[in-house]
Amino acid sequence: MQLEQDGIRNDEKQIKYALLSKDQAEQRRQDVDNCQYSLDLAVQNDIIMGMILINFTCSSNQILIDFCGQQLMSVKVNNNEWTSEEIAQNWRKHQLSINTIKGENCIMITFSVAFSESEFGLIKYTQNQATYIISLFCPNYCHSCFPCFDQPDIKAKIKLQLTCPKEWLAVSNMNPILIEQCSETQNQWNFATTPKISLYLFSINMGQWKKISNELHSGLQMNLYSEQEKYTACMNSNALIKRCIEEGFQYYESLFGIPFPFEKYDLIFCSFYFSGMEHPGAVLITRNMLQNKFDSTLLTRFFLLLLHELSHMWFGNLVTMKWWNDLWLNEAFAVYISYQALQSVSKKEPFNSYKFYDPKIHYLLYKQNGVNLDINTNSHPIEMKIEDANQGLQAFDSITYNKGSAVLSSLVTLIGFDKFIEIVTQYLDKFKWANATTNDLFDLIHYHSKAVDIQRWKQEFIQQNGINVVEIISQDQQKILKQSSISGNAIRQHLMNVLLIKEDNQMEERSIMMNKDTHYLCDSKDYSAAILNFTDDAYCISTLDDKSLSFVLTNFNKLNLSNLIKVSILNNIFQMTYILGTFKVQYFIEFLLPSMVPDIDAEVLNFMIEKLDILFAYLSVEQQLKFGPIIFEKLDLLRASNNELKQLILSQIGNFAFDKEHIHKIYEILMMAGAQHRSLSLLGKFLDCLFLKKHYLNQEHLLSYEQFWNTLKPYNPNFVIRQNAAAYTWEEIQLYFLSLLENTAEYNQMEYILKGINNQYSLIYDQYLQIYYSNIKTLCACLDQHKILIVLNEGFPKQGDFNLQLQILTELEQQFPNLNFTLNQLKQRTIQKQKIQQSFD
Ligand SMILES: [Zn+2]
Repeated sequence: MQLEQDGIRNDEKQIKYALLSKDQAEQRRQDVDNCQYSLDLAVQNDIIMGMILINFTCSSNQILIDFCGQQLMSVKVNNNEWTSEEIAQNWRKHQLSINTIKGENCIMITFSVAFSESEFGLIKYTQNQATYIISLFCPNYCHSCFPCFDQPDIKAKIKLQLTCPKEWLAVSNMNPILIEQCSETQNQWNFATTPKISLYLFSINMGQWKKISNELHSGLQMNLYSEQEKYTACMNSNALIKRCIEEGFQYYESLFGIPFPFEKYDLIFCSFYFSGMEHPGAVLITRNMLQNKFDSTLLTRFFLLLLHELSHMWFGNLVTMKWWNDLWLNEAFAVYISYQALQSVSKKEPFNSYKFYDPKIHYLLYKQNGVNLDINTNSHPIEMKIEDANQGLQAFDSITYNKGSAVLSSLVTLIGFDKFIEIVTQYLDKFKWANATTNDLFDLIHYHSKAVDIQRWKQEFIQQNGINVVEIISQDQQKILKQSSISGNAIRQHLMNVLLIKEDNQMEERSIMMNKDTHYLCDSKDYSAAILNFTDDAYCISTLDDKSLSFVLTNFNKLNLSNLIKVSILNNIFQMTYILGTFKVQYFIEFLLPSMVPDIDAEVLNFMIEKLDILFAYLSVEQQLKFGPIIFEKLDLLRASNNELKQLILSQIGNFAFDKEHIHKIYEILMMAGAQHRSLSLLGKFLDCLFLKKHYLNQEHLLSYEQFWNTLKPYNPNFVIRQNAAAYTWEEIQLYFLSLLENTAEYNQMEYILKGINNQYSLIYDQYLQIYYSNIKTLCACLDQHKILIVLNEGFPKQGDFNLQLQILTELEQQFPNLNFTLNQLKQRTIQKQKIQQSFD
């Protein structure tokens, strides 16, 4: 197809995407039905020419169509061809206002769009001269690619025809039904029409992908697409991925009683903003997951991701949330159910002989980010107000994913897993190919289960933010469980398992339903230690009383306990240190170091190192210099004890290296044969040591690593960007901030440059603080949302005067209420850092 290049340009470029409000979307859903798109796109270098036919029934006389592409060439509404004046008049703020007729309508539009400059929309990137194009329309970027009703509850059938260079492969939600050469250089791909899907799930991918064809046991097609340089890793993982998906299919199909609802299940391994995106039939997975070899941690993460995206095919794609305020249910469910699926899949051949991370322990680590956000008095409830489509992106945070899945999991404990699944099955069946809300599911729970007062539960966990602290207090000769709240004053309902360790080391388990603020636990003489919430079913922070604490601190390694219980103990102490400040950081470190013994289980050790890592990052540079070398020595010693520990420590040890001997040791490890294949994270940390902690080394040391570094440079351009940024002079930092202010800084490099500059070990860190503080308000006012988030998340100073930082964050909050979620997160982090650094003697 050839289209003319002349057309109407949008005159309001500064409004990047349609500010479709929730009310507008609701009204439009009432007005529009039976929507179908027939889309024709042709790639012409850096421009895509398009033509679309939109058929729908309408019950009003006027409707808005979202579009923020480059040009509109022609618009034809029900056979009425618009003049260019009409186009210019009606295309405002990225919405096209159309006079419709009641009943059936047919709109034909020709247009052009450019590739996205952000991480959303239709994205083109190159790697080693090869071109790849992917689409990420979630949450509302579909209208940056073609005119449409860009909201999740106007589901539509979509037919795609795509013209692109003939050496490219094209992948969409459906299989191609015809591929024809249409010119000397181009092919035309005709894809089958999709079933009814939400537009954020529509997927367009092209480029010089390498394809690996597979057929699953069920006969379903599952092709893998990888970038050329990841092809070998993809080939090596193919059998693993195939088996995982096959078992996942079986698990979900029998669980929900609904066969896989789409035509095929392709996976595209690419570079993009999320780690996975569940487009039906064309799932995106981050290329970083492809490894030549998987240890238990990587394998667990990879399988969880694959099973997460797969579960969305039913929960999310077949039944979709009505609006973004219900995103939590989509994501909380996918997180929760992927852990259940992993329990099942990991027991199947051949995975039963593989080593996975215990899903329960893995989840305990995952949950922490939700807790970290939730302790902030300014945190938000799971049920958020999303007033317009642009705010949709803000719903993708740790409250939605981490807290959401944690409270969902405790709800399932109350209802019972089988009952819950029975209800979910009915929900999927009732709303298939349509949309539903949280209330739709909760109505079904209310109807089918008397085990929980769902209205009360919803109010406590979904509509209020905050988390409870449950502790043991003494009353007369009794021990009482007492719950309080560190944010808000809600008393909630918790089903909590408590492990009592008796004087003779006998164990007793108690299951307690906490409805009120206090609950009898046991008599004072009855226990040596009480471990609250040891099965991690309740969403709360639980602590150890003095008696239990002194018992576990002395006996930790002698106790004959499961890993989950050991980790629960560690977790409770960690919360006391990190969140509540009732246990000093250095006591925690001093307890952990001798507990890391050579015969320790890798899962427990990993948990310890992860927690150390979090606390360590919050220490001041001086405090890090004090503990870093001690922790490094300890880990280095443990590295020799067994192979599993060795692999684990290799990926973590880099953070604790400061002096030149330790940095050189990492270099030696990297040089060792056999270490290279899996040490990307170690390599990253080694390079960080060189770039960031540079002034601890002299020129001679740096030069000795130069050759090694030169051989690595071509493989990861991001490292080079970071290295250069870490070496910036004062003048260069000023220049960079100027480029931010003038909006000429490049998106894809911003993250890495700011990571390099925001370096507390640098000699000009103080100047960086100054320039950051004096510009941040202007930046928040002039940059677009994505750039602001990068400037805040990567650029906000890691160390400095915390009171000043809190003051700045508060001022920003008042000035930019739309950034509240991110600012809150930064505030919380700052408060934690301040608390932790002050708790140091
Ligand atoms: Zn998800």
